[in-house]
Amino acid sequence: MKTMFEISKPGRKAFTLPSKDVNGELIESLPHRFRRGKTLRLPEVSEVDAVRHWTNLSQRNYHIDKGFYPLGSCTMKYNPKINEETAILSGFTEIHPLQTESFVQGALEIMYELGNMMSEITGLPAVSFQPVAGAHGEITGLMLTRTFFESKGENREIVLVPDSSHGTNPASTTLSGFKSVKVSSNERGLVNIDELEEKMDDGVALLMLTNPNTLGLFESEIKIISEIVHRKGGLIYLDGANLNALLGIVKPGETGVDIVHLNLHKTFSTPHGGGGPGGGGLCVRDDIAPFLPIPVVKKRKSGYELDYNLPRSIGKIHSFYGNFNVLVKAYTYLLMLGSNGLRRVSENAIINANYLKESLREDYELPYKQHAMHEFVLSGSRQKNLGVKTLDIAKRLLDLGFHAPTVYFPLIVQEALMIEPTETESKETLDAFISAMKKIADEVKNEPETLKNAPVTTPVRRLDEVKAARELKVRHTWEKENE
Ligand SMILES: *Cc1c(COP(=O)(O)O)cnc(C)c1O
Repeated sequence: MKTMFEISKPGRKAFTLPSKDVNGELIESLPHRFRRGKTLRLPEVSEVDAVRHWTNLSQRNYHIDKGFYPLGSCTMKYNPKINEETAILSGFTEIHPLQTESFVQGALEIMYELGNMMSEITGLPAVSFQPVAGAHGEITGLMLTRTFFESKGENREIVLVPDSSHGTNPASTTLSGFKSVKVSSNERGLVNIDELEEKMDDGVALLMLTNPNTLGLFESEIKIISEIVHRKGGLIYLDGANLNALLGIVKPGETGVDIVHLNLHKTFSTPHGGGGPGGGGLCVRDDIAPFLPIPVVKKRKSGYELDYNLPRSIGKIHSFYGNFNVLVKAYTYLLMLGSNGLRRVSENAIINANYLKESLREDYELPYKQHAMHEFVLSGSRQKNLGVKTLDIAKRLLDLGFHAPTVYFPLIVQEALMIEPTETESKETLDAFISAMKKIADEVKNEPETLKNAPVTTPVRRLDEVKAARELKVRHTWEKENE
């Protein structure tokens, strides 16, 4: 496939206009220093060629609008198109963050109402939407924790991180200047309570818990865990990126959680993409609220306003108010679902995950056998013993038309395959995925070469992933070649 840079022909245009009936005086009157010195090297193509260029590129990539995307821990649910319809309403796109509050009451109302909805969902009263990603929410939560303890004159430097937590948790902890201390899982894949009790003392600021954890298991002893941490004066942070399993069923605040971040770009159906823009809103309990980033949206008799008067705030952690457009999408999603719909999201996400788990446990090792939440983890260890790596299985899935699950994570499972179907997939799609996984299990025994050569149907074959990460090239080299 040739890109539009390669098919460019000098003088070709995507439009025709009647010949101009004004002279060039306006341009001539522009001071020289504001004028471009060289012509821009843009491709010159017809409109249809431009459209085909982008359409073809979109098909060379894999995306949720193209097929099933069971990437564990990422909640690749379908993003309803109505979210886009509301987000491009001119009342949202043509306002400016520096506009006087009285002119943007509608936007403030959405932020306020969405905050209320998130409070209801999490059971925690105070909200900030300033963080723009999950890991950004984590950092903000850790900054809140530090300030909270400083305000009480306490010096707590340790954050306990279970080994079943998401990788960003220990990373955010270290980046925030805390010392991260691991708590192991027990044989059921849940937090080892005895070890937690041993490690929990008055030097510990926070337990950073992913629940459901990265094995897709609900920490059923969360109340006991909370009690142990709170008894020693610590806080509980819930990594709520996996809230897709809990909506309308469990309110984290009622299980003893003090701070939680949400991933609007996972659970609340706003698109993921290239690291952003996303939404990593935080909900916190009352006595942590005074430290939230400024401003917070308040409702007064006279209308909505942005309150900067929080003297104990950690300050700002992003420009303005976070990714406002993402908030409009999440708000639309919640209004469309209503509270009954919201609970069904999680119920269906859980049923779908368990259906896949039960359908595949004969063919692949299932290290933790209990009921799963919205995702579950298989191990490719049996296949590894026959000489086929989990990476080969993942690559073969691409040939069979599916995105691969998350592989080699969580680290506590050998050859892990972490599968999250989400609620937006039909039984037919799940069945097709099951067939593909079973076919692969057969191929491991009968024709392992097929797996080792995969993928053969994708635009590029196996990439040198280390080189790709170290020598990032994001620009087409057309300009250079033509210079
Ligand atoms: C995705 C995820 C994160 C990180 O969220 P980002 O928006 O990618 O920063 C953190 N924790 C869990 C459990 C996740 O699934």
